[in-house]
Amino acid sequence: MNFTLSSTQQELVASARTFALAEVAPFAAQWDADEAVPRSHVQKLADAGYFGMTLPIEYGGRGLTTLDAILVIEEIAKQCAISGRLIVDHNFGAVGTILNFGTEEQRQRVLPTVARGAKLISIGMTEPEIGSALTDLTTAARVEGDTIILNGRKRWITGAGEREYTLVYARFDAVPGAKGIGALLVEQGYPGYRPGPRIPTLGVRGVREGELIFEDARIPLANLVVPPGSGFGRLMSAYNGQRVGASAVVLGIAQGAFDYALAYADNREQFGRKLTDFQAIQFKLADMTMELEAARWLIYRAAANAKKTIADRYESSVCKVVSAEMAIHVTNAAMQLLGGNGYSREHPLERMLRDARMFTFGGGSSEIQRIGIASHILGRPLPQHREP
Ligand SMILES: Cc1cc2nc3c(=O)[nH]c(=O)nc-3n(C[C@H](O)[C@H](O)[C@H](O)COP(=O)(O)OP(=O)(O)OC[C@H]3O[C@@H](n4cnc5c(N)ncnc54)[C@H](O)[C@@H]3O)c2cc1C
Repeated sequence: MNFTLSSTQQELVASARTFALAEVAPFAAQWDADEAVPRSHVQKLADAGYFGMTLPIEYGGRGLTTLDAILVIEEIAKQCAISGRLIVDHNFGAVGTILNFGTEEQRQRVLPTVARGAKLISIGMTEPEIGSALTDLTTAARVEGDTIILNGRKRWITGAGEREYTLVYARFDAVPGAKGIGALLVEQGYPGYRPGPRIPTLGVRGVREGELIFEDARIPLANLVVPPGSGFGRLMSAYNGQRVGASAVVLGIAQGAFDYALAYADNREQFGRKLTDFQAIQFKLADMTMELEAARWLIYRAAANAKKTIADRYESSVCKVVSAEMAIHVTNAAMQLLGGNGYSREHPLERMLRDARMFTFGGGSSEIQRIGIASHILGRPLPQHREP
């Protein structure tokens, strides 16, 4: 075990910090107010080499490790959660699925395009009636010749209508349960496929959350990334990496809130003394730091043990629950440190608190992660379905 970052990693962090302060921090509040991040900024993230960091060089990547990417994401998310999430989505999730389980043709066709930001990618699992019970999903796929016909509706898809590609989870030939589920890559412009309405949200407003609608949509069979049968386990294993990435985003949000509140409290005077001279404030800072540290090292463990962005299920669930719940507490405490100013939109704390709030749902709820953690402790599956 080694708890020290290498000199290369330290340089990566320093350069991400410089980038974030110059290219992200000055605009984050405006993007939140506009409820949109301009594509030119997304391109800057790609041009800085932050998309596809974890991909091998032959697929347009930089061959960096999962931990390297996590360090960058944490730095960027300190200034802007959406920018952090964009980097996650273009290193883990659908990207990790194609890298590990796609065909060679798909890797060559899709991954370099995504790494240079020419086409963006999202992941489509959730449906209006199916969230946590993912193995009950109903989006229906059937193969006709060299085409997959797709019917159904997805909901809560991050980047819906904004991103060119979506990796869609679907049920093939009405086969029930996990073994009927496979994943295919859908591209904007395919006949029968269109984005549905946007979902207005509390936070992370710079990205469009929305629905996707498939009405006899025609997808080339060559876009089948993970066939049904035994594919669901592979899809979930790739998604564990996404959870570690999401944990790094929420850690970044919380650390950003802490840093801001610390600077404020160390400057603000009441009763003729700095706020940081009061012991009650000092204890609060100590508690927040301990929570941040605990989450950080759980995330780094999951990242350090990941291979080609595939993380361990137990480790990714543990770090996601701890970091998501920590961030709600820490951003809230940071707001309190600013007093009334924390509640004002003149300061970023209210945005950070709103942004942090999503991570106990997005990427799988904390309750569902706890079921997985309990299953690991007990050494047996814990099926949630009602007995037939
Ligand atoms: C901002 C945001 C972005 C998202 N992005 C994406 C995306 O890009 N792609 C995508 O596919 N999905 C995405 N999601 C969807 C997300 O994965 C789901 O919200 C999540 O899986 C929970 O499903 P649900 O919201 O339908 O809640 P439900 O499954 O309806 O659950 C409601 C509540 O009941 C709890 N619950 C459910 N079952 C159990 C149980 N057995 N035991 C105990 N508690 C239980 C849940 O934990 C939750 O608290 C996103 C969600 C949000 C909010």
